[in-house]
Amino acid sequence: MYDIRGLNEECGVFGIWNHPDAAELTYMALHSLQHRGQEGAGIVCSNGENIFGARGMGLLPEAISQIQLDSLTGYTNAIGHVRYATTGASELSNVQPFIFKHSKGDLGLAHNGNLTNARQIRLALEDGGSIFQTSSDSEVLGHLLLKARSMNEQANLKAALNMIKGAFAFLVLRKNSLSAALDNQGVRPLMLGMIDGAYCIASETCAFNTIGASYIRDIRPGEVLTFTNEGIDEDNYSQYRDSKLCSMEYVYFARPDSEFNRQSVYNVRKALGEQLAKEMNIEADVVIGVPDSSLQAAMGFSQYSGIPNEQGLLKSRYVGRTFITPNQEMRERAVRMKHAPIRDVIEGRRVIVIDDSIVRGTTSKYIVKALRNAGAKEVHMGISSPPLKHPCYYGIDVSTHAELIAAYQSVDDIRAEIDVDSLSYLSVEGMHDVYRRHGSHGECDACFTGDYPVEIVDYLLPEEKEKKTKGV
Ligand code: SF4
Repeated sequence: MYDIRGLNEECGVFGIWNHPDAAELTYMALHSLQHRGQEGAGIVCSNGENIFGARGMGLLPEAISQIQLDSLTGYTNAIGHVRYATTGASELSNVQPFIFKHSKGDLGLAHNGNLTNARQIRLALEDGGSIFQTSSDSEVLGHLLLKARSMNEQANLKAALNMIKGAFAFLVLRKNSLSAALDNQGVRPLMLGMIDGAYCIASETCAFNTIGASYIRDIRPGEVLTFTNEGIDEDNYSQYRDSKLCSMEYVYFARPDSEFNRQSVYNVRKALGEQLAKEMNIEADVVIGVPDSSLQAAMGFSQYSGIPNEQGLLKSRYVGRTFITPNQEMRERAVRMKHAPIRDVIEGRRVIVIDDSIVRGTTSKYIVKALRNAGAKEVHMGISSPPLKHPCYYGIDVSTHAELIAAYQSVDDIRAEIDVDSLSYLSVEGMHDVYRRHGSHGECDACFTGDYPVEIVDYLLPEEKEKKTKGV
């Protein structure tokens, strides 16, 4: 199977403690996080006595029926998850939240991100007799919690969080508590909110807007919050470090009505477009954005350059994620279905088309062809992020260099391949400049630079692993 879009989001989580409509609010919040994962969804609830849930494959309405949702009515605590598979097969057993049934107490678990030492820990746990039910990396935390010998749940959770490495936002629901933890570099986003006096937690603040909750703050790297009927316990399992939030959250993943670090994604995305215009300096008649995620960057580009911004591409609202066989003709048709040029905007004009990224180059190539077919005199492409040259091991589905055109081709080769008159990417410095102006502490940029902020144990070459084992 072949995904024409390339980059895909890496799951979304939501949790709420002590609200009479916990399941319904979780369902609505997951709906607003659907852009982060469309392969499966689930909700797990607790009421002080039982842990119970519903989950299924596909978009939220397909995954959880009204009857299933009704069966969760009355539970006051809930966690939910929308899934895009970055590790583990796309099958029901891997759809979260997971429920662990155990004599020490049942628990529900939802995870956004990717553990970079999950394989190593899993092998050790299996050697010790643990039996895994899924192929997902997320299951590792559940086993570590159940293996712990202490009766102090909080201490066990902190010890387990210190054993795992990678990018993660975890929600752990027990009968009498809900815990939320973020990796100690803050690569994945996690937000704290409140509705009707009840605390809630979400991957993005757009979930709070949807349910009418207020946005309190971002969860800090290495932080673990626990909610009980007594209130909130704010603790750290690891020493605080500056956040290394994923750069691509601003560029592409997050919804523009979300905020990170109190900065609107909409504004940051526009500023990335402005910065690109400063660096690109091309004359043209019109600037258009590839819908939806590049529309704000195109707006910012236009405001800085003075080149009018128009809607030159129309995105079909009814085409979801498009998986097709790797057949050129069918791929082209699928992109045509998704992005239709508006001839009146394009014909006879020098067009700058702004996109947020180029992964394999497939989509860009077909968009350029469509613009030329619609009569564009010149087509220039501006990318509002630097070239994607390195795999992401932190929860985005690009895990090999072979999937990234910029990993093995120069900008000029890519320009020729996708057939544009010019191709410009935003510089790494320019991107960080924008983030700095918006209160950043230094976002993760590993897929552009190869500088990975979190150790990638499972992915090291055998000789590097050996060196680490020997302590070299
Ligand atoms: S490597 Fe890239 S996509 Fe992955 S977390 Fe870092 S910035 Fe985000």
